[in-house]
Amino acid sequence: MADRCKSPECAAPIVWAKMVPAGGSMPLDPGSQGAEDGNIAVWQVRGGTTVYGREIPPGGELKPHEFRYRNHWATCLDPKRFKAPAGWWHSLRRRRWEYRARQGSPVQHWVSDEQIRHDWDAAYAYAAEATGGVPLPDEARPAGQQGSLM
Ligand SMILES: [Zn+2]
Repeated sequence: MADRCKSPECAAPIVWAKMVPAGGSMPLDPGSQGAEDGNIAVWQVRGGTTVYGREIPPGGELKPHEFRYRNHWATCLDPKRFKAPAGWWHSLRRRRWEYRARQGSPVQHWVSDEQIRHDWDAAYAYAAEATGGVPLPDEARPAGQQGSLM
């Protein structure tokens, strides 16, 4: 789906990709197809409108149905926008959901993607208890339990 970066200082066109397997959404620069510094492999399922993405690991290859795109975080004109916000935020690099009490503050609690995949209910309960009641966002729910791709 076409959209714009929500920062008034930027407002660049972006495309949201649904990340597999983490399930979060990531903004991409729509003009960056084939960019050498792009590390997101993007594809669509025939007949569908959802854009899927996965992180390309260092040295990783594209599959035949995938295209390389750049994450909008690298080019956003408002760098504050993608400073880790308060609350739960997914770290693709560390493959986990992280909780911060304030924007940019150190991580206070985290739940790994693996724990979430293994037992969503337990991870959800742990997260709410550790933070004094701030639940994991719905996009943290494993893709399989949303009834979509995986
Ligand atoms: Zn932006």
